[in-house]
Amino acid sequence: MIVINEHFLKLQASYLFSDIAQRINAYVQAHPDKEIIRLGIGDVTRALPPACIEAFHHAVDEMASDATFHGYGPEQGYLFLREKIARFDYQERGVSIDPDEIFISDGSKCDTGNFQELFAQSISIAIPDPVYPVYVDTNVMAGRTGICSGGRYHGIVYLESTEENGFVPAIPDTPVDLIYLCFPNNPTGATATRSQLQTWITYAHEHNALILFDAAYESFIRDPDLPHSIFEIPGADEVAVEFRSFSKNAGFTGTRCAFTVIPKKCRAFTPTGKRIALHQLWFRRQSTKFNGVSYPVQRAAEAVYSDEGRRQTRELTDYYLQNAALILHTMMRLGFHCTGGKNAPYVWVKTGCDSWEFFDLLLHKAGVVCTPGAGFGRCGEQYIRISAFNSRENVEKALHRIEKVFS
Ligand code: PLP
Repeated sequence: MIVINEHFLKLQASYLFSDIAQRINAYVQAHPDKEIIRLGIGDVTRALPPACIEAFHHAVDEMASDATFHGYGPEQGYLFLREKIARFDYQERGVSIDPDEIFISDGSKCDTGNFQELFAQSISIAIPDPVYPVYVDTNVMAGRTGICSGGRYHGIVYLESTEENGFVPAIPDTPVDLIYLCFPNNPTGATATRSQLQTWITYAHEHNALILFDAAYESFIRDPDLPHSIFEIPGADEVAVEFRSFSKNAGFTGTRCAFTVIPKKCRAFTPTGKRIALHQLWFRRQSTKFNGVSYPVQRAAEAVYSDEGRRQTRELTDYYLQNAALILHTMMRLGFHCTGGKNAPYVWVKTGCDSWEFFDLLLHKAGVVCTPGAGFGRCGEQYIRISAFNSRENVEKALHRIEKVFS
């Protein structure tokens, strides 16, 4: 008898986006003449930067000739890309990361989801609420949780991100071994200061714990005092792993390229308490299960670091940040308490009512789609997320309609 992994049965069907789609469909059928503006998605809308396209084309042409063709690539990714990442994302910011400590992948979703495979079943895990759902679901699949009741899985320590703590969770009362953090945050758009991150690094040292730091939105940071990497915090290289992506800075959501940084010093422990380098374990895991990112895509990602590429990606993220600023200012002017929108492409709006009710209100009265906060966790009740990933024209039109509803 072929028996399934029963932990999959614990997964809550992700009703969020199908519920949203159903409500939109119902609205469109009832109002076929009304135009809808979608500010609910986390996908980018603007084209790849010209520097990336040029490098992409050139690399595809290389594949057309025996002399320049590339077959299977190096397991950790091509050195030309890892060298650029180490230099521009880390060394030039005063952070000592070596190209050897970087693993190129096809997405931070896969890496943040797969990384838990390296750890024992029995570890205790701490996951923020609200949260990007991948961290929770992959631990459920792995059997590290009990059943879900009242929207929360038994066995997970939820780190509540609320208005009171500025959406940066505090150290939990219960000891934990694996901690997921994400800054700038999806969905709240909140950022963490050096001292807030230092608290977590100190905790990880004191409790022999590990931090998985998701920095997928790093490129939206503009405040010069905010850290761009967890490795800017002293002591982080022993207790943290960082995930970065080209999805949001360079529009690679459909092209697929990301990377994970595991300093050689970063450690975990065997059941008998012997230190073991996570770098070697992840290398073993990736070289067994992952085939790498295609050569043309890695060349396109490399172009992000050329002079032109850096200027063009900055222009892209500036564009979305200007959208975010418009959203933030409008919602605040209308009297809503908001976070995010300054160093992040998301604005987290406190609605003062049920988040689905507010979603329906925006859809029916303004023809604008947002994401109900409840879909990201219990602490998202009464909030909505508005995404800056759309054209300026659509954002302005949506905000104009929202203003008409509330003023
Ligand atoms: N991490 C966070 C917090 C995200 O919001 C997303 C995508 O929306 C990802 C990771 C996925 O990134 P990638 O496209 O590299 O898989």
